[in-house]
Amino acid sequence: SKYSKEDILKMAEEKNVRFIRMQFTDILGIVKNVAITVKQLEDALDNKIMFDGSSIDGFTRIQESDMYLRPDYDTFTIFPWRPEEGGVVARLICDVYKPDGEPFSGGPRNVLKKALKEAEEMGYEMNVGPEPEFFLFQLDEKGDATTITHDNGGYFDLGPLDKGINARRSIVLALEEMGFEVEASHHEVAPGQHEIDFKYAPALETADNIATFKFVTKSIAHEHGLHATFMPKPIFGENGSGMHVHQSLFKDGKNVFYDENDRLGLSQTGYYYIGGLLKHARAITAITNPSINSYKRLVPGYEAPVYVAWSSANRSALIRIPAARGAGTRLELRNPDPTANPYLAIAVMLKAGLDGIKNKIEPPEEVLENIYEMTAAKKAEKSIESLPANINEAVNLLLEDDVITSVLGEHVLEHFVAAKKVEWDEYRTQVSQWELDKYLSTF
Ligand code: GLU
Ligand code: MG
Ligand code: MG
Repeated sequence: SKYSKEDILKMAEEKNVRFIRMQFTDILGIVKNVAITVKQLEDALDNKIMFDGSSIDGFTRIQESDMYLRPDYDTFTIFPWRPEEGGVVARLICDVYKPDGEPFSGGPRNVLKKALKEAEEMGYEMNVGPEPEFFLFQLDEKGDATTITHDNGGYFDLGPLDKGINARRSIVLALEEMGFEVEASHHEVAPGQHEIDFKYAPALETADNIATFKFVTKSIAHEHGLHATFMPKPIFGENGSGMHVHQSLFKDGKNVFYDENDRLGLSQTGYYYIGGLLKHARAITAITNPSINSYKRLVPGYEAPVYVAWSSANRSALIRIPAARGAGTRLELRNPDPTANPYLAIAVMLKAGLDGIKNKIEPPEEVLENIYEMTAAKKAEKSIESLPANINEAVNLLLEDDVITSVLGEHVLEHFVAAKKVEWDEYRTQVSQWELDKYLSTF
């Protein structure tokens, strides 16, 4: 690993760190933390910090509530936007362990580690590069979020520098100070919509980065008097926010998706990975698109995928193969959105791809036409299925898929499904403005 215990103690001292946030993620993808003072740092690095697992949604029952946090030393970093007077704040990302020294199976980071171990046993390392999109909105007089933007920007637009673009600049600078390699940031298609892409990295590091990225973005937007949201479809009729996930496997330092002799430059392993992802796509959507609102984004006409297909070119497909070849050969899965728990999402995508490799699942032919414009008959002829239409359908598809449920494990599956069923029931019994407009005077 990058840092030793001594390195961290020294850095904390040199940088005048006073507080350390011990961070972890719950099953629903919400980042939690316990702040300790620097006096406890050594104990923390020796895995002695305990917390009450029963207070965390979906973690444990009251009778077995003691949990330990084991920090991953390499995740030590300083929060550059916190005030320095009174002491600097740093954080460590932790794994959750049971008192008996076993990793807690309900910890999402442990789930991803388990999936990565399976890949490793096959000789593979996974690299992941995400493209999270988000909106920056104005606050009202009370400081609450609205859906108003004062910006009329569109895709890749340059200023006039509005508040949003200044905020985005500060976000990028803070991320860089925290060790992110930001590759690109730009205005997205919808008003107030932005994207920040960071460089691909090993899967676990990227999952940590996504979790960090979301709260850094929110914190800094707030300092600019704006609200950052990762809600997938905040405005009807505008593009929603996705989080495309670029992924590739490496063996002995070489990208195994690349084959210079193939027509598309893809290896057989790459094709099988695509085959696996497509086979399990409908089931993994529950994890990659876990909110009610996620499904308002997955509709035709807004650059978001709706159909289970792949393409070396077109963006209406679920999987696209970006043009880079050689070490950069990768595929882009386009349905995930930033409400996904990054650890679980990467774990299920990897599991699906590995299943493709293990069971030699050939993908169907690629689809070059715009699928949004295909007739239903044409889609049926090509056996192009749709992604689930809502979270309830997605959860039911997940429950039928033994390969995907096996990587999540019983604990995570049970709590995830229970939470989603409650969410669905709450939602489906509401009476919306749309219904009132449609029926109140007609009937
Ligand atoms: N915002 C689009 C989505 O919902 C993606 C746009 C793009 O291709 O970056 O996935
Ligand atoms: Mg984008
Ligand atoms: Mg993309």
